Amino acid sequence: MQHFASDNYAGVCPEALTAMLAANEGHVRSYGDDEWTRQVADRLRELFETACDVYFVFNGTAANSLALAALCQSYHSVICHQVAHVETDECGAPEFFSNGAKLLAVSGEQGKLTPAAIVDAVTRRCDIHYPKPKVVTLTQATEVGTVYRPDELRALADAAREHGLRVHMDGARFANAVAGLGLSPAELSWRAGVDVLCFGGTKMGLPVGEAVIFFDRRLAEDFSYRCKQAGQLASKMRFLSAPWLGILENGAWLRHAAHANAMARRLAAGLAEVAGLPALFPVDANGVFVRLPSRVEEGLRARGWLFYNFIGAGGARFMCAWDTTPETVDRLVGDIRELARET
Ligand SMILES: *Cc1c(COP(=O)(O)O)cnc(C)c1O
Repeated sequence: MQHFASDNYAGVCPEALTAMLAANEGHVRSYGDDEWTRQVADRLRELFETACDVYFVFNGTAANSLALAALCQSYHSVICHQVAHVETDECGAPEFFSNGAKLLAVSGEQGKLTPAAIVDAVTRRCDIHYPKPKVVTLTQATEVGTVYRPDELRALADAAREHGLRVHMDGARFANAVAGLGLSPAELSWRAGVDVLCFGGTKMGLPVGEAVIFFDRRLAEDFSYRCKQAGQLASKMRFLSAPWLGILENGAWLRHAAHANAMARRLAAGLAEVAGLPALFPVDANGVFVRLPSRVEEGLRARGWLFYNFIGAGGARFMCAWDTTPETVDRLVGDIRELARET
């Protein structure tokens, strides 16, 4: 049975699996000093059309935390949205790995930061008793399934630059944002002012692993030591990197992301038309949020559906993955319609 709790409930996509098996040949050097890892880093440089530094870690929490730690000192602060994964779902890891840098959570419509909120957080105080803002982190696609357009990113990056802040992007669902907007990865990252991108692999269909991509290569100084100390340097690195090779080949990553987005749009349309339930946020990527009567939620769970209702701004969250089928979407919509009628 397929579920909508998270896109990380899905398995490994065939392209990644095939590449992983292909990498399982003979003995090769460990800790990333192998041909697979070199090739993927080159492919990512081609994809992003720039000379960037690429590192692979096991998960998104580590990617975000270590990237943020690389961008600031312990007495600095990081401006984030109040529903940002770094704030609500990483168990204090960004603060821990940065030895105490503080997250400054601010509000914003539709899960998005605004230039005004950044400026306010920076200028609110400028005395020595306040943790000095040094980084802005934004999530693309956001935690509520919306997407920043390049002009929005540029405006945020400009506000950040003006106040001497670096820009980090949590791209756990960067693929879905790229597919949703139909723009190039470069346009949604360094060309819009992003310094460091955590490019999510897991939710895109890899078995494990995220790429930390430094567009400003000076910021990557000693990053491999940081990864090693944090227990994030894979000795058999080829099994983290090779699946990327498979998914980057022939645009599989983008096809899978576009499919997940299309399933989310199908779900949103079904809920609106069939059950009269409008989505709480624009469905720009692969997630749909909707407010369901609690009896409907209970009914869905009784029928075996797994989904979350504590993420983002409330409401039930339904995430679509690379392998979500139209039939599964329609069955969920049908169940919601039946349950809504009964209540
Ligand atoms: C899933 C997710 C991550 C990564 O989470 P891990 O469980 O640590 O891999 C990071 N940011 C966002 C927005 C996510 O949804």
